[in-house]
Amino acid sequence: MKRIAIDMDEVMANTVQHCLDLYNADFEKHVTLADLHGLGLFDAIAAEHHLHVCRYFESEMFFANIQVMEGSQAAIQELAKKYEVFVVSAAMDVPKSFSAKFEWLGVHFPFLPPGRIVFCGDKSIIAADYLVDDNVRNLLSFGGEGILFTAHHNIRETRFRRVNNWPEVCALFLS
Ligand SMILES: [Mg+2]
Repeated sequence: MKRIAIDMDEVMANTVQHCLDLYNADFEKHVTLADLHGLGLFDAIAAEHHLHVCRYFESEMFFANIQVMEGSQAAIQELAKKYEVFVVSAAMDVPKSFSAKFEWLGVHFPFLPPGRIVFCGDKSIIAADYLVDDNVRNLLSFGGEGILFTAHHNIRETRFRRVNNWPEVCALFLS
């Protein structure tokens, strides 16, 4: 059975949208994902607000309230019938997120056993056939085939096979 490693933020979890919802509410702004085309989150937020937005990640409630990426639950459930599916999150980027991310997975992806959840730092340690991730840095250091999940910041990237959404992930791996 081949093994697929799947990233959390911007692949399973709509993290940046949640950031924008909080930011827009706090500062009466109207920044949308479309405004981030080709940009990182902090490129689209005024410099004087960066620290405020960084603090969102320090709250456990922040992670608890993130929306699931559309179609990911059913798709991962189907993938798990044909592949060894692992969730691989570079949670070390925000150590305070460990508990909240683990609980979030239990709520939204209860069919994934805890043994299939990997919180790590550098994803080059991951041994799998495929890694589905929005972050080019992770795909570059990965030993298997990196599959780029489209996100606002990676629109111009051309070095990897790209999937735009979860139906396209299913088409790639299940057809
Ligand atoms: Mg990600």
